[in-house]
Amino acid sequence: MMEGLVLRSTGSWYEVETAAGDVYNCRLRGKFKIKGLKVTNPIAVGDRVKFELEDSEEQTGVIQNIVPRENYIIRQSSRKVHYGHIIAANLDQAILVVTLVMPRTSFGFIDRFLVSAESYHVPAVLAFNKSDLLEEEDKEYQSQVMAMYERIGYKCVEISALEGTGVEDFEKMLKGKVSLLAGHSGVGKSTLTNRIDPEIGQRTAEISQFANKGVHTTTFAEMFKLEEGTYLIDTPGIKELALFEFKSEDIAQYFPEMREYASECRFHNCTHDHEPGCAVRKAVKAGKISLTRFDSYMSMLKGDDNRR
Ligand code: GDP
Ligand code: ZN
Repeated sequence: MMEGLVLRSTGSWYEVETAAGDVYNCRLRGKFKIKGLKVTNPIAVGDRVKFELEDSEEQTGVIQNIVPRENYIIRQSSRKVHYGHIIAANLDQAILVVTLVMPRTSFGFIDRFLVSAESYHVPAVLAFNKSDLLEEEDKEYQSQVMAMYERIGYKCVEISALEGTGVEDFEKMLKGKVSLLAGHSGVGKSTLTNRIDPEIGQRTAEISQFANKGVHTTTFAEMFKLEEGTYLIDTPGIKELALFEFKSEDIAQYFPEMREYASECRFHNCTHDHEPGCAVRKAVKAGKISLTRFDSYMSMLKGDDNRR
């Protein structure tokens, strides 16, 4: 039996790379299923799989087993209700590219992304791009925003994909890891990947075009190898990590800065909305929890922030 990493999938075929760097085209053995998971794709990009060699000349194989996942991100299947579609598995980090200007990424969008990443147990990073466009006062503002997110535990980096500032540090951050890159269209993802690796950038731009035309893009989730052990997953079709089968009472636990206060609320099932004796609202009033973060929480709780 051989083992490898799934780099891309086209529905019924999976491109699997072995530790030796050879790539095999594999299909799934019949009746392949993962217990307890209702998904339309049992294997996704980033999965580690065990496979039997089928034809050594053609380099084809049959996937027999999956190595248990560290984590995975999933969205509602577009084909089947109550079924999920796995976007990627075994991520070391999810990087959201954001911009304060042209276009401005909303806090609601950023916080939704962070909440999803928390719920998937994937460490999240915020990359603030287009720093070259910032006026003096915008720079000050951006530093404050970054400090706010750093304080609650999210790594933030400032870059200019266009001019190259900060890109070297950005690349260092990718080293030895599997990273997913996300962000609104226009924030500079293609420009960034292009700087890191022109070949990948070209491919990203192509996939981006498909995504913009509304072609079903999940088939295009791909994992790019930057160097040994360093992979980038580009998902132009999904600008955000969707929440799948999510309960509103769980949301508060995905705001790390709220967790420590939530245990002090008078009611153990406090939603931090209207309940008396709420330690979270008290912390917001005292300036210990950022108001924009609390606003995002309230919007998510009430479900009125969808698709911003
Ligand atoms: P994508 O949709 O996220 O892939 O965004 P693109 O990489 O296509 O970039 C959208 C636009 O923003 C293009 O016109 C880029 O030249 C521009 N852009 C990207 N990064 C930067 C940057 O760091 N600074 C400035 N000034 N423009 C940028
Ligand atoms: Zn409360």
